[in-house]
Amino acid sequence: MVEDCVFCKIRKGEIPSTVLYSDDDFMIIKDINPQAKIHLVAIPNIHVPYIDMMTEEGACILGKIISKISHLQEELGITGGYRLVVNQGENAHQTVAHVHIHILGGEKLKDF
Ligand code: AMP
Ligand code: ZN
Repeated sequence: MVEDCVFCKIRKGEIPSTVLYSDDDFMIIKDINPQAKIHLVAIPNIHVPYIDMMTEEGACILGKIISKISHLQEELGITGGYRLVVNQGENAHQTVAHVHIHILGGEKLKDF
């Protein structure tokens, strides 16, 4: 937990959010500024600021999250596919320094 981290504050209930799923490892919330019809954020409980700083333990949790997302699709209202995105640093416009996975879907997304 880092005092001024938005996602740690959300986990502690200090900032309100719409939580769609949570377990001992992570939570899935609705993104406050959606970039697709469905835009969720999967947030590990452990505070690791950047994917560049990811530990083996953290990487294992990210793996669990990705696996869990695939099982939660229906619950999350996703059909027909989805996109997972992790932003790293300035050029990728990372704004929250607590590693998280964007889940985008609910519509045909733009091709790269
Ligand atoms: P990134 O730009 O990859 O760091 O993504 C951070 C994401 O967190 C952005 O899509 C924001 O819209 C989202 N976000 C920031 N604050 C909140 C909040 N209080 N509740 C939900 N999503 C948030
Ligand atoms: Zn944090």
